[in-house]
This record gives sequence, C-alpha cells and structure tokens, in this order.
Amino acid sequence: MAIVEEQAGTGNGPAVDDDDDGGEVEHHRVAIIGTGFGGMGAAIALKQAGHHDIVLLERASTLGGTWRDNHYPGCQCDVPSHLYSFSFALKPDWSRSFAEAGEIQEYLQETADRFDIRRHMRFDSEVLSCTWLAEQQRWHVVTASGELTAQFVIGAWGPLSEPAFPDLPGLDTFEGPAMHSAQWDHDVDLAGKSVAVIGTGASAIQIVPSIQPTVGHLDLYQRTAPWVVPRPDRPIKPWLKKAYARVPGLQRLARAAIYWNRELLIFGFAKHPVLMHLPRRLARAHLRHQVPDAALRATLTPTFDIGCKRILLSNDYYPALTQPNTAVVTAGIAEVRPRSIITTDGVEHPTDVIVYGTGFHVTDHPMADRIVGADGHSVAVAWSKGMEAYRGTTVAGFPNLFALVGPNTGLGHTSIVFMIEAQLQYVLDALRQLDARGIATFDVRPEVQGAFNDDLAQQLEGTVWNSGCASWYLDERGRNTTLWPTFTFRYRQLMARFDAESYHLEATRVPTSRT
Ligand code: NAP
Repeated sequence: MAIVEEQAGTGNGPAVDDDDDGGEVEHHRVAIIGTGFGGMGAAIALKQAGHHDIVLLERASTLGGTWRDNHYPGCQCDVPSHLYSFSFALKPDWSRSFAEAGEIQEYLQETADRFDIRRHMRFDSEVLSCTWLAEQQRWHVVTASGELTAQFVIGAWGPLSEPAFPDLPGLDTFEGPAMHSAQWDHDVDLAGKSVAVIGTGASAIQIVPSIQPTVGHLDLYQRTAPWVVPRPDRPIKPWLKKAYARVPGLQRLARAAIYWNRELLIFGFAKHPVLMHLPRRLARAHLRHQVPDAALRATLTPTFDIGCKRILLSNDYYPALTQPNTAVVTAGIAEVRPRSIITTDGVEHPTDVIVYGTGFHVTDHPMADRIVGADGHSVAVAWSKGMEAYRGTTVAGFPNLFALVGPNTGLGHTSIVFMIEAQLQYVLDALRQLDARGIATFDVRPEVQGAFNDDLAQQLEGTVWNSGCASWYLDERGRNTTLWPTFTFRYRQLMARFDAESYHLEATRVPTSRT
C-alpha cells in the first residue's frame, strides 16, 4: 500500500498509499466515525489545536447523529439546552429551556458552519471495516464510499444509534406501516388509525401524547411502568435571550447553575440511594394528580426503584393515557399478525400501524464487529464478556483508537456533551504528547484497563442503577458497562492529562502527518 499524506486545508489534497493492486489509498491523520455531538466536537477540537488532516465518516447523507435521526413527534431533549450544547459554542437564543430535536439539529448545523468542519465530512460513507495495520502503524478503513487509512481513529458512532427491534413471532408478517422511534416516517398518516406503541421509555413517552389526539385508537404496550416526574419546560422569554447574548457571563452562570443542580442528583443515584425518596414522592404525586382513575393509576405505578432506569420527564404522558381512545396493554405480546397483535391473554388487538419505542443496541453495537485490532480480533470479541475500556476511551489491543462515549461514560442525569468534551481534552493531550516524543502508536496496558474496570465495578455496587431492574444500562450478564459511576467533574479531572505511562508506546517508523 503506498501512502500519501493529506495536508487538508492547504489545498494540497490527501496523502495516498499504493494499495496491493497498485491503486492509491488516501491517508489522513485522524478519521472520525460519526458526525453527531461526538464527531463534530472532535473535529472542532482537533482543528482548533492545529490538526487539519481529518476526515469525518458519516453513514447518513447529512450530519447530526441522534438529533438527525430522532425527529419523531414530540422529540425533545430532557437535559436543559444551556447545558446540552458545546461549552465553546453557547447559543443564547434557545427557544425553550428543554430544546426540541429540530432546534438541536439546527444548532449542530450552524455549529458545523461556524467552525468550518463540513468540508471534512464524507457522507453516505458507512464504515464497513476498520483494521489495524501494525506494520504501517495505521488503520485501514473501508467505507461504503471507498477506503482510506488513518493514523488515529476516533469512534463517535454513539451508543444510542442502532435501533433495536423486539423479537416477536410474526413481526415480519405485519402488513401495515411499522417504524422505530429513530426511523420515523412522517409520510405515514396516523389520522384515525389504530396505532400500537411498543415500549415505555424516554422515546415512547414523548410519542404517545404527541400522536394521541390524531390517532383513532392507541394501544400502549407496557412491559414495565416507568417513573415519570413533571417536566419544568418553558419558553425562554425574549428579554432573557437578549440578556444571555449581551450580559457577559450570564449564560455561563445559568449553565453552571444547571450543571451543579444536576450533579447534586449523584448523591441520590450513587452515594446515598435513600435520598431517592424525594423524586419518588414527586413522581407518585404527579401520577396521583394526573390520573384520577385508581385502576389505571395502579397499572401505571412502577414497581422498581426510582432511578434504576432513566427517570422520565413529562407533563402530558399520563393525561394522554386517560383519554378514551387510549389503552394501556400490560399482557405480553404473543404474536403479530398481518393486521393485529395478539397478546398472551388471547386478546386480538386490531392494529394499522406499529411504533417501536424499543430502544437501541447499546451493549452490542454492530460497530464493535467491524473494528479489528492488533491480534486480528474484533472489539466485539474483546468484549465478549462485556464492554470494557480504559477511562471509557481506549481499548487494550486496539492501538490509536479513541472511543467517544465509550464504555461507562454514559449518564442518566446530566449532559453527555460534558463527558465528550472531557474525552476530547484527553485526545488532544495524547496527540500533543505523542508528537512531542516522536511516538506513532499507543495501546493501553491490559492490566491498567483491568484495574480501572475493577474499580468502576466496585463504585457501581450499591448505586440505584444496579438495584435490580432491567435497563439498557446493563448488558445481558447484568453488568453495568454503560454508566459513569460518580460525579462528572471527577471524570473531567481524570481526563485532563493523557497518562502515557499507562500505555505501550511505539516510536514512529513510518512517515506521518502532524497536522
Ligand atoms: P429504552 O429506554 O431502552 O426503552 C425501550 C422500551 O421498550 C422499554 O420500555 C422496554 O421495556 C420496551 N421494550 C423493549 N423490548 C420490548 C419487547 N420485546 N416487548 C415490550 N416492550 C419492549 O429506549 P428509548 O425510549 O428509545 O430511550 C433510550 C435512551 O435514549 C433514553 O434512556 C435516553 O438516554 C435517550 N433518549 C432521550 C430522550 C430525551 O432526552 N428526551 C428521548 C428519547 C431517548 P422494559 O422497560 O420492560 O425493558
């Protein structure tokens, strides 16, 4: 393979390698997989630090990740907008305290333009394989639109990007439209139809009240009743938007207040679960207040510890379920037929449209099969006993790979953008140190990764997330491989410096670009 180095932004074009057939393969310093908050944040941070030879590989034909894919009716973020945005790109004029999906997507598009990163994006370029070439000290990446090599790969495909469908008998025989929350088809007319919504997670509880007034009949298939608390959402007044734009520091102050408020929740979630009686009382009062019917209230009363699954925010979910055109179905789904759903109690529910609010492949993401490391094994093989990384970012046996929002960096209480930015400090410091020392590759020492994960597991013991419910936080063995176990500022402190001593390092043997 012959190598050509790109001086992106200099107009010199990409560097190229000769491949085995004598063809040329372009080479980049960094390939970033994904253009959501993670991928975009990485691209901006790298460019600001002087690394311009980057390419962002995106499977879709536009940028945006989660907020591009999730545009179902009612889709709204449940972390306040002032915090759910990049610290380096505050937006003073958020229209609501909790932004709707479309506004977040617009924010991402504006941010891409503002930091001039669109020209590094390659759309319709799903990564099909990503293989470490030890001799060449680089990754070989095959995408749907061609191949390339890169010294570093930043995986920013997002843990909530691969829709999961339930494994139900007869699912394929259903004749009506069926759509996942993350693949909404706005051309499907729901007016007057019998609609089945499967699932009661954060997505489904936003869909239900948004479509209930339109549909003829709505069956909500509830396997587990969620905990729901009021949503303190409101439009942001014009004078306040102006003040955020004009008064230096005011928006940062608001952001800090939201951050610390949210961080306090960790005392209940992870340190003293007894404190969870406060949100439990709030949720119970909310249910009592919004659902007068005792039988329906009993159906909607959760039976697991509050906080074990994500606490949901909604003011209109319960009221929608009290309407005459909705039914909460608690019997399991036995079979799907061409025009109906049969439940385990033998009842046939006529169904025109199925909506899957059934979540995502979080602990079994397909990208893990496509990344093949130093010993010829995939990440999925390395993770066959559960996802594991060092500081949620680097994985032993997979040199020069950074995973954004990797194992145990997820959150149930605050903004994931904060965690991404913490990881980016680490990435930048890694590149800085490697360049300064003439090092081309890093690979985290397995014993360091092991010790880090032992400590994580210990911290997660006794947290509310590990209190016995089934959730996407846990893998099939019941291990919590998704959540960060403590305060997020601790993570930021941890990620401030790349700890080269925890890694096997290899000096540069092959010429590489430093930009
Ligand atoms: P989820 O939280 O994983 O919920 C999936 C739902 O589908 C659960 O209620 C689950 O029931 C149900 N389900 C799965 N398989 C089923 C089956 N075979 N039969 C019946 N029910 C089944 O997925 P999500 O709602 O898409 O949310 C995922 C995450 O995305 C959230 O936790 C959040 O982090 C993020 N999100 C955020 C927002 C927001 O900010 N507002 C909105 C949407 C999503 P069980 O509970 O019984 O397992």
